[in-house]
Amino acid sequence: NNNHYGGSWIYGVSDTRVSIGLVSALDSGDASFDPYFAMQSWKTHPKIASLLESGTLVKSGAKTIPEGGHWARPRPCGDGFLIVGDSGGFLNIARLKGIHLALKSGMLAADVIGDAIAGDDTSSAALSFFDRLVAGSWIHDELWKARNYRAAFQSGFWMGGILSNIMQFTGGRLLRNRIPMESDAESMQKDRWQAAPLSVDGKLTFDKVTGVYNAGAIHEENQPSHLLIADLDLCRGKCAEEYGNPCQNFCPAEVYEMVSNGDDSSNLHLNPSNCVHCKTCDILDPYGAITWTVPSDAGGPKYMGL
Ligand code: SF4
Repeated sequence: NNNHYGGSWIYGVSDTRVSIGLVSALDSGDASFDPYFAMQSWKTHPKIASLLESGTLVKSGAKTIPEGGHWARPRPCGDGFLIVGDSGGFLNIARLKGIHLALKSGMLAADVIGDAIAGDDTSSAALSFFDRLVAGSWIHDELWKARNYRAAFQSGFWMGGILSNIMQFTGGRLLRNRIPMESDAESMQKDRWQAAPLSVDGKLTFDKVTGVYNAGAIHEENQPSHLLIADLDLCRGKCAEEYGNPCQNFCPAEVYEMVSNGDDSSNLHLNPSNCVHCKTCDILDPYGAITWTVPSDAGGPKYMGL
């Protein structure tokens, strides 16, 4: 599966609300790439800045977007559950839209769940009828046409544009077979480009902690960490040497900090209560050592209206 990171901000300008968003690919290969600061930098473009200059930041947020589409859908059901919406891979990356697919998959799931409850059978076998309904619906038609859209861009912007347009104009009839693609984590390179530091002004550009505040992220401070790190030695050793601990860059909420021990060594310090649950770390950690789990207090960001 491959993913994009989407950042969203809302500004109040006079009596109007201006909502902006930036979507960036997570397979850039650059271990120093910071999607949060890419968005802050983008806001300083004169055309964007002129939209926002008289406004005040109202809300902000971040999430990953499942772009794998048709080829990357997970098993949609099991004993007692069905997966709908983004979690089920129902997103058309060619249109960068998924709400209509989330609604439709929810409607189909409701039909299946209703029958399963009425028949007192919520087993995986009974719920698998959901997959057949999806396969016979316009969800399948739409995702099938866009199935290789994202993978085409591995060959670069121009070639990707040409191939994706061919797919669009032929309704997906050309390039039928799956175009293989590395995962986002596999595509990370050990060479780093080191983005130029961006100073924030507190009006147009903001630090990550301000982003967390405006996401309304709240967790019970004393709960066990919902971010599980399999091997801390890996963080302070191999990952520091090879990738420079990219979790510090790709996390939009400053959850991961390498804190110096006062000598040449450092240790990973976690701030899990900052987490806005974008799931970038679970996807992009090059060693797969980070596992995101559901927080025990149902805490997290409040994305009403975002
Ligand atoms: Fe996103 Fe992981 Fe950072 Fe939470 S800890 S905000 S899920 S990257």
